[in-house]
Amino acid sequence: MLNFDHAASAPTHPDVIRTVAEVMEAHSGNPSSIHRGGQAASKLLERSREVCAAALGGVKPGEVVFTSGATESNNLAIKGSLLGRKDGRVHIVTTQIEHASVTESCLQLEELGFETTFVQPEADGTVSAEKVLAALREDTALVSVMHVNNETGAVQPVEEIARAVKLRDARVRVHVDGVQGFGRAGLELQASAIDLYSVSAHKVRGPRGVGLLFVREGVRLFPLLTGGGQERGLRAGTENLASIVGAAKAFRMAAEDRVPRAERMTELREELIAEVRRHDVLTLTEPKISAPHIVHFTFPGLKSQVILHTLEELGMLVSAQSACAAKTEKPSRVLSAMGRSREHATSGIRISLGDEHTSRDVRLLADALDKAVRRLAPLEGRKR
Ligand code: PMP
Repeated sequence: MLNFDHAASAPTHPDVIRTVAEVMEAHSGNPSSIHRGGQAASKLLERSREVCAAALGGVKPGEVVFTSGATESNNLAIKGSLLGRKDGRVHIVTTQIEHASVTESCLQLEELGFETTFVQPEADGTVSAEKVLAALREDTALVSVMHVNNETGAVQPVEEIARAVKLRDARVRVHVDGVQGFGRAGLELQASAIDLYSVSAHKVRGPRGVGLLFVREGVRLFPLLTGGGQERGLRAGTENLASIVGAAKAFRMAAEDRVPRAERMTELREELIAEVRRHDVLTLTEPKISAPHIVHFTFPGLKSQVILHTLEELGMLVSAQSACAAKTEKPSRVLSAMGRSREHATSGIRISLGDEHTSRDVRLLADALDKAVRRLAPLEGRKR
């Protein structure tokens, strides 16, 4: 079985597994304890924070808040920015194509009286800075736009958006869900205008259930988890030290050789794109700028699940929508927002590459795709 669903979760790197096991064996101390065991754990925790800060592009270690993953990071960034404010700013600008952890956070805030504008993307899945600016109001507190869309791979102009927003109103905060962008699309966080950036370890071969939120110095958040005051009071709870150390290793590896890895992936991606283009029943989704690890196409007339299961029978694991939405047969929110018809929005397939994929793997996938098309095209009424 070949796994082409790395955007849902990438296989944990063997070095990360080893590191996690070593930390679990060697460190049973609570980083908050003042005895020797606690101090050793605390030292390792702070060392991991430094590694993550460097991997994010030279930000300050104090700007890294460890979380249980990007769902929590997004919740903390959004709810933490709106709750407890005293300046009357109650409005959020986000997009129609965000991950559920962003969308649902905004919808939950709406139940409490806050307001959201969901900006529509262009037909290619890119969010325009002009549309984001046009949605700003005097009472806007936060703009939240993802770095790379997890379904189509569209790279969003997040830095342009952040700069334009700050120019218009320096008091509006900018959050970016960087889950699919970190380690794939470049971004100099330190020099950027972005205030908050969410990252998840398991998308870059780290452990599942651990992530971080970059919180720029001076940005205050209302904590969602209170208790023992860990993570500068922003996220109470005994730290998951072994996973954090493993995550730091994965983040470092992802950042270190990002450019050559992206180049290799881009070559593989182009091979796959050429294969998709060969089949006139498939429609390639073509964002203006795409991340190197995602190829998306639709097969109008068939349900995503049917295509997905056929490819699985042929030994290939791919996905339909994001993993969180995979079990529904509803049209993709992302494709619908891009103005695609229901036929397209229910027949999307996402192939996502990882750094260990080879040209041979991609050729095997191309063969499977060819077989799947031959098998399925007659079902949707076209003669091949
Ligand atoms: N945002 C995006 C864009 C994602 O792809 C995902 C993972 N599906 C998340 C947020 C949630 O990350 P996590 O699994 O770490 O909670």
